[in-house]
Amino acid sequence: MKYVSTRGGMAAIPFSEILLEGLARDGGLAVPESIPQVSSEMLASWRSLSYAELAAKVLGLFITDIPEQDLAQLTGAAYNTRVFNNENIVPLKPLSNGITLVGLSEGPTLAFKDMAMQFLGQLFEYVLTRKNTTLNILGATSGDTGSAAEYALRGKKGVSVFMLSPAGRMSAFQRAQMFSLQDENIHNLSVHGVFDDCQDIVKALSGDLAFKEEFHLGAVNSINWARISAQVVYYFWAWLRATSTESQQVSFAVPSGNFGNILSGHIARSMGLPIRRLVLATNENNVLEEFFRTGVYSPRSAEQTYATSSPSMDISKASNFERFVYDLVGRDAGKVKALWESLERNGSFDLSELKPLFEEKFGFVGGQSSHADRLQTIKSVYEQDNILIDPHTADGVKVARQFTEEGIPMLVLETALPAKFTETIQEAIGQPAPVPEHLQDLASLPQKVTVMDCNTEHVRSYIQEHAQL
Ligand SMILES: *Cc1c(COP(=O)(O)O)cnc(C)c1O
Repeated sequence: MKYVSTRGGMAAIPFSEILLEGLARDGGLAVPESIPQVSSEMLASWRSLSYAELAAKVLGLFITDIPEQDLAQLTGAAYNTRVFNNENIVPLKPLSNGITLVGLSEGPTLAFKDMAMQFLGQLFEYVLTRKNTTLNILGATSGDTGSAAEYALRGKKGVSVFMLSPAGRMSAFQRAQMFSLQDENIHNLSVHGVFDDCQDIVKALSGDLAFKEEFHLGAVNSINWARISAQVVYYFWAWLRATSTESQQVSFAVPSGNFGNILSGHIARSMGLPIRRLVLATNENNVLEEFFRTGVYSPRSAEQTYATSSPSMDISKASNFERFVYDLVGRDAGKVKALWESLERNGSFDLSELKPLFEEKFGFVGGQSSHADRLQTIKSVYEQDNILIDPHTADGVKVARQFTEEGIPMLVLETALPAKFTETIQEAIGQPAPVPEHLQDLASLPQKVTVMDCNTEHVRSYIQEHAQL
C-alpha cells in the first residue's frame, strides 16, 4: 500500500514515510493510492477477535511496511485493560429508540482521541527505534488533543512532547490531567495568552525550517493519516458487535469538528463495511452541516467561530475535509488543487452540482445542535435510560434522532465522558457528573508545569535546552 497527495504533487510513498509528516509537500493530504476492500468472509472471520486483534487486521490493510507480527504487538500494547478502563476496550451501550452508544472514551483522558493516539504512541516508539532517531512533538492545545498525546507518549523512548496551553483557560480537570504527568519526556508549557497565541508560537517555530530540522520537531495533529486509519478500526468493531449477519446495515452518527472521526467512517464504508448512513453532527459552528445541506464549503474566520459548550467541535475550517472532497470529485487531484486554490482566492467553493451524490453514493447526511439542544438531550437520555452523556455526544444523539430508521441500528459515537465537562452536566440535570473511580484523586496529585510569557523566543530556548537529540 502506497500513499499519494490529494493535490497530486507527491510520488507514491509507503506508510512509514508519511507517518511523521504533516501536510504533503504540495500542501495536500496523504491518502491511500486505493482503498482496500473487505469481503463478507473476512467480516465473518473477524467476529471472534478481540479489539487489539481486529486492529491488527484492519490496520494491516493500510500499513504494509511493518511485519504483521510486529503490528499485532503494537496493537496489543495499545489496546488492553492496563490502558482502557473497560474489558471490551470499546463497549456498546444501548439507549432507547434504536440508538446505541459506541463507548470510545474509556482511555486515560476520557475522550475518543485516546483511541488513535495510544496506537500512535506505540508506533512512534517502534519507528524511531528502528530509524535510530528522535522526535520532539511540539503542539498547542486547549484540551483533548494535547492530553491524549501526552498520555500516549509518556515514557516512550526517543520522543518528547512540548505542549503549549493557554494559562488559566483550561478546566481544573483538564489541568490536573495534563500537569500531573511527571514523566521526564513530557513538558507542559503554560503560556500567558489565549489558544491562538499558543498556536502562533507553534507555527512560528515549526515554520523555521532550520530550527525544525536541528531539533527534530514533529506534530501529531488531526490530519495525521495514522490517526485516521486507527479510527477506522472502531467502525468495524461496532458493526461486528451490533449485527449478526454479514449483510446487515447500520448507521453511524458522529459529533464532528475537524472531520477526522467521520472521515474514518467514510473510509470504513468505502472498504465495503455495510454502513447505510453517516450522520454528521455539528454544534453552532456548522461549516460542515452547511456543506452537506447546500454543497457550499465556506470556512469561517476566528471572529465567526463561537465558543460553545461542546468546545472540542469549535472549528472554523475542517482540516480533514479535503480527503473526502478528493473522493467526492472522483479522486481527481487536479480538481482538488483547483478547488483549494479557489478557496484561497474567494474564501469558499461550490460543489452543489454534486449534491445528489452526498447521500446516494456516500451515505452522508448532516444536522446541527445548539446549547439548548445539548441540555435537553443530556436530560432526556438521563431520564429515559439512566445514562449520562457528555455535551459532544449529546450533539450526536440530537442529530441521530432525526435520522433513525426501523430495522437499522443507529450507532452514536460517544466522543467523551461527562466528567470532563461537568459544568454543562450541572446545568442540564442539576447535579455534577461523577468522576470515574480511578481518577478521583487526580486533583490532589502534584503538578508539573512551566509557566512562561507569550514569547516565541522563550519557548524556543526552552526547547533548545530540553529537546531529545
Ligand atoms: C476532537 C473531538 C471531536 C471532534 O472530532 P473530529 O475528528 O475533529 O471531527 C468531538 N468530540 C470530542 C470530545 C473531541 O475531543
